[in-house]
Amino acid sequence: MHIINPATETIIATIAPDNQHSLSTKYNLLRAAQPQWAARSVADRVAVVRRFRELLGSHQEELAATLTAEVGKPLSQSGNELNGAAARIQWLADNAEKFLADEQMTAAPGLQEIISYEPLGVVCNISAWNYPYLVGVNVFIPALLAGNAVMYKPSEHATLTGQHIAQLLKEAGVPDDIFQLALGAKETGELLLDMDFDGYFFTGSYRTGKHIYERVAHKMAPCQLELGGKDPVYVTDDVPDVKAVAAATADGAFYNNGQSCCAVERIYVHEKIYDDYVNEFVKEVNSWKAGDPTVAGTYIGPLTRREQLHELEKQVADALAQGAVIQAGGKALPGPGYYFAPTVLTNVTHSMRLMQEESFGPVIGIMKVSDDEEALKLMQDTVYGLTAGVYSSSQERAAAVLRKINAGTGYWNCCDRVSAAVPWSGRKHSGFGATLSHQGIRAFTKSKAWHLRTL
Ligand code: NAD
Repeated sequence: MHIINPATETIIATIAPDNQHSLSTKYNLLRAAQPQWAARSVADRVAVVRRFRELLGSHQEELAATLTAEVGKPLSQSGNELNGAAARIQWLADNAEKFLADEQMTAAPGLQEIISYEPLGVVCNISAWNYPYLVGVNVFIPALLAGNAVMYKPSEHATLTGQHIAQLLKEAGVPDDIFQLALGAKETGELLLDMDFDGYFFTGSYRTGKHIYERVAHKMAPCQLELGGKDPVYVTDDVPDVKAVAAATADGAFYNNGQSCCAVERIYVHEKIYDDYVNEFVKEVNSWKAGDPTVAGTYIGPLTRREQLHELEKQVADALAQGAVIQAGGKALPGPGYYFAPTVLTNVTHSMRLMQEESFGPVIGIMKVSDDEEALKLMQDTVYGLTAGVYSSSQERAAAVLRKINAGTGYWNCCDRVSAAVPWSGRKHSGFGATLSHQGIRAFTKSKAWHLRTL
């Protein structure tokens, strides 16, 4: 399997993917070792995870360079991702003992009722490439903290990063047989679906997630899916600083080249400030430096996958054919490298693919609305349900819209952000289950109810 640098289109490594035999061997090692890992105290596992966090920091330069080389994100954003992962690990490590401890629910004379949290066992984590540290950490860190063994399949586009993660977990003190890598693409994933895991935790596209859910249903094991989105933002007419909101929402749409599950994918702007907003938005987009992701100051690097260039071209062509107007960009840039000019389209409607399908690239549609009711109606018009945001001086006004939207996250005066303290979860085609927060720690456990009576 060739690992290709998306900025240069050169092969930077060649690795042998796993096969049925190697995966079975790894699975057996995980299965045999898991009980000893579970028998260790949570405090002990927390200490190991804290060492892993420190190692991410001391190796940051090398890890960021690898991440940029294989997924193409600007070097500064690779550094940000590693810092973000460290912050999440910190929260999970600080809170694991609290949320994995037994909970006494009833203490009456002669009766105690207690909930305990047991590890699931050996879990399978099939992961995405867009934020391999962040989406990986969401799963394998709480899984390990809770006493599980983990088969981790990094995306084929983040293989080298997956290898770094495995190496550093080992250095941190995670026993060899408790964390195993499954290397490869779809074929490797399919082999994992045939195996007998105690839980499947998937991050990736709706299409693959649906397939996985159907394939593992008969196992009656927990299956959690963190999938894509078509996340809307509404900018009301009462924002005090249109320029600042335009810059913040442009960043929400284009950070990591728009390849974020919670990227802003649709923007609705109140007609009273629409022209001003579009003007400021386009100025912001035109101010960015695009090109070599290793050069300081680059904000837009290459896309990670060549195929996505064609998807974006198709979305733009479809929008233009239906009357959209290009305010910036509009096409792929000459190679080498999978570059697409940051693209802003106005005059868009919901009959366009651009406003319905996840773009997962540096393309955005901006639509004028006449009031909150129209904005809400358009925001709700999606099969996805990951996040939604409203910019307004009034929290009440924003909440009135956000409460009615069927999404896992609501943002007031912010967007495209994740915090370890609150659950990260999708609805509808954005998936189900949650990572992060106390829910995301307990997602890797099965609860046992204890009814204890004295005789
Ligand atoms: P993808 O679905 O193409 O691949 C994800 C993983 O599934 C990869 O490891 C891939 O090798 C594996 N896979 C592919 N086919 C498989 C099969 N048939 N059986 C088993 N495994 C299979 O997704 P991607 O391109 O890696 O990621 C982009 C998508 O992920 C976007 O839709 C994005 O929104 C979503 N995402 C969601 C979140 C979230 O937290 N909700 C986070 C990051 C990315």
